[in-house]
Amino acid sequence: MLPWEFSEDDLKDSLEYYPDNTIDEIRATLVAFSYSSYYVPAMALLVIYCLFVGLILADGILGCLPRRAVPRWIRAHVMEAPLATKKHHVAVGAGVIRLPLRLQSIVVGGLFLATFVPIFCFYRRANPDLYYDHAWEAHLRSLLDRTAMISTGLLPLVIVTATRRALPSVSGIDFGNAMVYHRWLARFCAIHGLIHGIGWSVSEGLRGHYKKEFKDPYWNWGCAAIAMFMGLVFLSIRQLRVKAYEVFIALHVILALFSLVTLYFHVKLIDYAAWMYFTWVVEIAAAIWGLDRLVRWINKAYLSAGTSFSQPLTQAVVTAHGSDIYRMRVHLGASKVQPLIGGQQASLLSRFRLSPINKLSAGTSVRLTIPRLQFWSDHPFTVIDAGLVNGAESQGYVDLLIRSADGMTKQLATLLQSSDDKALEAGSGTAVDRTMNVVLEGPYGHWHSSVVKHDDVLLFAGGVGITFCLPIFVQAAAQSDARCKLVWAIRDFDIVDSVADQLIRLDEVLRAAGPRSSKPKIELRVTAGEFFDKAKEEVAEGVAELKHSATDSDNALSKASSSASSTPIPSPPDEKAEYVEAKKIESSSKRLTALAARLSGSMDLVAVHGRPSKRVADHFEPHSDRTAAVIACGPASLCDDTREGAIFALRKGEWRDVEYVEECFDW
Ligand SMILES: Cc1cc2nc3c(=O)[nH]c(=O)nc-3n(C[C@H](O)[C@H](O)[C@H](O)COP(=O)(O)OP(=O)(O)OC[C@H]3O[C@@H](n4cnc5c(N)ncnc54)[C@H](O)[C@@H]3O)c2cc1C
Repeated sequence: MLPWEFSEDDLKDSLEYYPDNTIDEIRATLVAFSYSSYYVPAMALLVIYCLFVGLILADGILGCLPRRAVPRWIRAHVMEAPLATKKHHVAVGAGVIRLPLRLQSIVVGGLFLATFVPIFCFYRRANPDLYYDHAWEAHLRSLLDRTAMISTGLLPLVIVTATRRALPSVSGIDFGNAMVYHRWLARFCAIHGLIHGIGWSVSEGLRGHYKKEFKDPYWNWGCAAIAMFMGLVFLSIRQLRVKAYEVFIALHVILALFSLVTLYFHVKLIDYAAWMYFTWVVEIAAAIWGLDRLVRWINKAYLSAGTSFSQPLTQAVVTAHGSDIYRMRVHLGASKVQPLIGGQQASLLSRFRLSPINKLSAGTSVRLTIPRLQFWSDHPFTVIDAGLVNGAESQGYVDLLIRSADGMTKQLATLLQSSDDKALEAGSGTAVDRTMNVVLEGPYGHWHSSVVKHDDVLLFAGGVGITFCLPIFVQAAAQSDARCKLVWAIRDFDIVDSVADQLIRLDEVLRAAGPRSSKPKIELRVTAGEFFDKAKEEVAEGVAELKHSATDSDNALSKASSSASSTPIPSPPDEKAEYVEAKKIESSSKRLTALAARLSGSMDLVAVHGRPSKRVADHFEPHSDRTAAVIACGPASLCDDTREGAIFALRKGEWRDVEYVEECFDW
């Protein structure tokens, strides 16, 4: 029997309560009540589920279709465009809300309408109404039933959009995208729960039963469930989340579990046929969550199992580059790794993670736990390189580049500093290695195989965002004849040092491949100013000559080195800060020049001061019969600016097609 249906037994039971009324009057009351309280919200949920399944199917199908299948103006004005201004990753409203993209907003808007319209309309009442004397009482009761059903019905969707494995295995939808829907659905779910709770409190208060209700366990479970929902929404406020992410994650999981348990008992104890379905809904939500966790644990066990009893976990070697950049090499069996160069290109279907044991490849991300530092939490990092160990074909590796922040990564820095303080002195460039056990989970995200097929490939990396951009740059340069340019905003040279080996390997591949129509170009954009501004002071002092100009970029590199080599070095300890700074400049310039010299001219490496332009036409000459890919990874503002530049080029038709891909390190 469906939730809005009733049996002849229900009718007969009602006859006992309303002996003065006819069976038709009782039936009419039951029909109107069931329609208003159960049929309308059930239909709303059906619409919401259909929308959601449609979204998953559309995302999966679109991901497999060639880009030309979707007209350019739809991509430029709907699918890839920000909602209003360029802001998408940069939060608005005092930094609290991140605006979805236009297409995401349409989906969220559709879900909003399907969720909230039933609050306001489609109410029916029988005449005579045997249950309620006043229309407002009848409507209030139906409103409370509707909000309860919709809130409970949204739960499986809230859970499935938060899963890392369950949703990507049936749809290619990426986690960042799913998070947008997760947050909005969770807010809708909590608002309905809150209306339900407040409404019942008012209703019971008016009838003078408010205090008495707290003696009923189902009421108390309901109060607890609403408290959990509100706690989840409150603690997810961006400012709180970003301040203490690990605390947020731990509390989020605990509160989510309690929400399921408390809601389950609340619904179960109502013991009414129409609600039986909703105990199933909660059970389904819990099962999705449990299954996702199980698959994640299998994945972790597969990737992190060590080679022997004495070495139960896989091992990683960490190398420090300066004071806050660490390159971690995780050793894995060759079968777990998809090499970046020479490996098979990932297929379109790789965006569907059907198996818990997918290979790790560069450009995807992993979740890393370092048990000796923080065994309870994992952190996402992008694989910057993956390959097989030379001379040991059964062994593979994945490399991560980690910038230290304030939590686990800071602990990592402290651990390494305790290994060798002197070697880590700023700017020394001396590498310190340390071996440790790690637990990995992944891959998450997918290799964007389409972007390396374009005629022009333009990449913008901000600092450690190079982890996402470099593998694409390497693939595009090594396996196609595309015009490739990587614009990399950096604060100092340490981070460039950390990828030098990878650039040198690319250089070897390019040399072996022979001449190409245009040299790949790397433009280092030094944004912090220390490096170039200091050098500029030297110019003023007549020590050396360095142009502090973006236009003179091609000469800047060699001039930087000549400037730095003659930097006067104050003697420590009196002027320690300047001494360290001067050492840093000197060392940076030398290393930059040395790296450029090792690149044998197969690609251009230039260093320029200041922020780069995000207009595509400022980097490549536009061509209406060529296609371009624009890729961004870095701070929120860099991603938003780059999207704006790519959309501009797409709308203006400067290229036949412009594909924009981003990874913002910010969920
Ligand atoms: C998909 C993705 C890929 C990333 N790739 C890289 C990379 O290649 N190299 C790199 O240096 N950084 C990367 N990051 C950022 C990196 O995950 C955080 O810097 C790291 O988790 C900080 O950990 P912490 O405990 O030291 O930082 P905290 O100081 O505690 O937090 C700093 C910030 O990091 C973020 N963060 C912290 N913990 C988590 C978590 N468990 N999950 C998600 N975000 C978290 C939060 O926004 C927080 O505000 C990536 C992030 C994402 C989402």
